[in-house]
Amino acid sequence: MAQDSPFLASEAIERVGISLDAVRSALPSVEPESVLIRQAGLVMRRTWAPGILAVTTPWGVFAHPRVMWWFHSGTNGPELAELVVHELVHIEQLSSVGLVRHAAAYLGDYIGARRAGKSHREAYLGLAAEVEARTVARRISAGV
Ligand SMILES: [Zn+2]
Repeated sequence: MAQDSPFLASEAIERVGISLDAVRSALPSVEPESVLIRQAGLVMRRTWAPGILAVTTPWGVFAHPRVMWWFHSGTNGPELAELVVHELVHIEQLSSVGLVRHAAAYLGDYIGARRAGKSHREAYLGLAAEVEARTVARRISAGV
């Protein structure tokens, strides 16, 4: 299989022994077996801040080539699964509040933090949507 072939979120999650039921009960609007992780093209990646590994859009989840390699080479299992669950939390957020409200809250949080003097990275990490995605992904990955 080519290094840039899409893969299913469920494959990365089950590979490390996380139950899909745990994901489904935390994220009721998400069906991990129908979410494809695709490689982000170069043009899209040019808009990403350094260090970004994946981005969830209403059109799907797009990942850095490094992430595709992690999956296809079978390395980095737990971190990959946590990253995939993190993106699934964003899908849940998008479907529960809708794109416009999600984007408005995301941007509003970000602008507020920058005005308060935070760096881009601090502002990004402090976004409510990002805090929730990290918290839920860590909890599911830890199996609690
Ligand atoms: Zn995120």
